[in-house]
Parts: sequence; C-alpha cells; structure tokens
Amino acid sequence: MSHEGMTRRGFLGAGAALACGLTAAGCATRGDIPASPEGLPLVDLHVHPDKSTVDAIVALSKEKGVKFGMVEHAGTKENVYPRVLSNDEELLSWTSELEGKGVYKGVQAEWLDWSGCFSKKALATLDYVLTDTMTFPGPGGKRMKLWEKEAVIEDSADLFMDDYVDWHLQILNEQPIDVLANVSWLPGKFAKSYATLWTQRRIEKVVGAFVQQGISMEISSSFMLPELRFLRVAKAGGVKFCFGSNGRYPNMGKLDYSLQMARELGLKRKDMWLPKKNGARAGR
Ligand SMILES: [Zn+2]
Repeated sequence: MSHEGMTRRGFLGAGAALACGLTAAGCATRGDIPASPEGLPLVDLHVHPDKSTVDAIVALSKEKGVKFGMVEHAGTKENVYPRVLSNDEELLSWTSELEGKGVYKGVQAEWLDWSGCFSKKALATLDYVLTDTMTFPGPGGKRMKLWEKEAVIEDSADLFMDDYVDWHLQILNEQPIDVLANVSWLPGKFAKSYATLWTQRRIEKVVGAFVQQGISMEISSSFMLPELRFLRVAKAGGVKFCFGSNGRYPNMGKLDYSLQMARELGLKRKDMWLPKKNGARAGR
C-alpha cells in the first residue's frame, strides 16, 4: 500500500476529525489531529518554511492529511541561515504569521545562546522548540556545521563520538527544548560505522538524558534515523516520540520511515509527544 493510501485511510478513519478539519483555527484538541490506522498522530513537527510560503505549506498539509509544525531558525545572528529570528520582534512576527493557520508554531533553536535572545513572554507564543546536535564546537569552540564539507572533524571516530555524546548531554540537560531532532545523525566520514560507533553504552547515556529531562525524540523520515536498535533503547526507557521530515517544500509530511519504525516498535498513542496547550517549555 502506498503511503498516500495509508495516510488517506487513516485520515478518513479519524471520523470526528473531519467535522473540524485541519483548516479551522484553534483546532487543538486530540480529535482534530489526523491519525494513522493504529491511532498514531500524523503530525510532522519538522517543517521548514524556506523556499516556500506559509500558505503553500498549509495547503500541502491539507492535501497530505498530515498536520504540520513549522520551525524557523532562532538564535543569534552568528548562526547563518536564510532567516534567523534573533529578538522578540522577529519571533513575534513569525508566530503571528502562523496564527490561525492550523499548524503548530515552532522554532529550531541554534547553539547554546538562543534563549537569551528572547523574553519569556515572546517564547510563550511558541507551541514548541526543537533543536539538533549537528552544529558542533569546531576549532576555537566556534560553531561548526558538521554536515558542511569545510567542517574540521577529528580523525579518531572514538574521540569524536565521546565528544559528540557529551554534546548531546549538554544540549539535553541544559537547553529548555521540547524536541531533539535528527537524533544519532553522524557526519559523512563516520556514517558508515553507525552500527559500531553507537555502542549500547553511548545510546544509553543519550537516552538517559532524554528520560531525565522529558524531551521528545524525533524519528526522522529524511535521515531515516535513529535506527531501530537505538529506538528500542529509547522506548524501553519510556521516551516519548514525535515524527519529523526536516522538509523543505514540497518534501514535507513524508513520514514513511517514522511510521515504519513506530510499527516495528509497537508504539501507541501514549508513546507519542505533541505540543501541549501550555506552550513551549522555554516560555513557561
Ligand atoms: Zn531542521
């Protein structure tokens, strides 16, 4: 069965959801969220607006029967992206663009100094904050995008992994985030060794911090990560999961890998995390 077929069936099967639909503003109750046949929320919390417009993305969400959470990059201007929200005015402009569009309002937080750019009051307009570990301290402690070919990465995979696990712990333990995305991603030079580098001990350390801080783990359909072995440890620890595509238009709402892993793990609605009514943790 195609993913589209499953999605549509799940959506129609949601019954009451259609009464309100995805379009109406303020539809935040559980019954308004499209669901898979197993009752898992069809929500993509990792949708980037660059290369498109909010309205085009909202239209795509309806077409796909997947509710979206949209994230713009947020942090200091030292972070280089097409748009980086760096103060209250810019953040409030972003959340007001999303108001009444039937999407969750999010940001992708950058580095360790993002929350200081905003007041609590402005952060409270967000439904959630997501981040990842892919920007990492480079030479001189400067922010370095690990996926760029200019990145200067340690030759010893084991030394890198020890630092990388510590980086995960630092972010999970110290940042007021709701979701960690792109979990367990490795830079190109080490990606082939995923199975050996993500040892049981390293996985347990990272999962332990998720559990302790109550942070949700994204199952990424774009990177097809984390792998099942990693996810099993997370499930056993009681981590709550969410789905994400890290998509730029029109590659969003594609949740095949996320749903496949959810089925392998036997996830139920109670294992899934969705933004709460009281908003992002950073704004509370
Ligand atoms: Zn992203």
